[in-house]
Amino acid sequence: MSVVILNPAENLGSRPVGLEGEGFFATKIDAVMGLARANSMWPLPFATSCCGIEFMATMASNYDLARFGMERLSFSPRQADLLMVMGTISKKMGPTLRQVYEQMAEPRWVISVGACACSGGIFDTYSVLQGIDKIIPVDVYVPGCPPNPEQIIDGILKIQELAKNESGRRRHSEEYKTLLNSYGIE
Ligand code: SF4
Repeated sequence: MSVVILNPAENLGSRPVGLEGEGFFATKIDAVMGLARANSMWPLPFATSCCGIEFMATMASNYDLARFGMERLSFSPRQADLLMVMGTISKKMGPTLRQVYEQMAEPRWVISVGACACSGGIFDTYSVLQGIDKIIPVDVYVPGCPPNPEQIIDGILKIQELAKNESGRRRHSEEYKTLLNSYGIE
């Protein structure tokens, strides 16, 4: 098995731009919040099939998602800020997935892992949702059938970048409200 070589400390160590002097460091509150959010995410794994097994490998000792501040999985949407959808989502399950999303507090991010979650994958049938972005907004797509743990980690690093650089005002912006409204979410 190949060994993934990543240095999360490098990612964590990129401190925000600011003013520095003897005994002080000043920066923007958005930058501090972004750094904290990006490195203390609580993911909710919504795993329905094979891609979920890849996620288990991502959590296990070889890849060890805890290195990215994500060792604490949340099975309660109200205490999660990253929804990870992994696997085939049937149309029947769509309302449940959407309810989980709606129960998450802001700021929340969504990562769609694998071809099935992204587009229905090989299941171009009457019963399978052809991509979760038909019912909820998605921040990062991870392609593959299945994507391997390295790809899942790559997607998570992209989510961390989004969280780190997000303005504190984004969730109150008209643009964001319009996005949610386009999904019929208040
Ligand atoms: S994308 Fe492939 S591996 Fe993932 S759930 Fe679908 S069929 Fe399974």
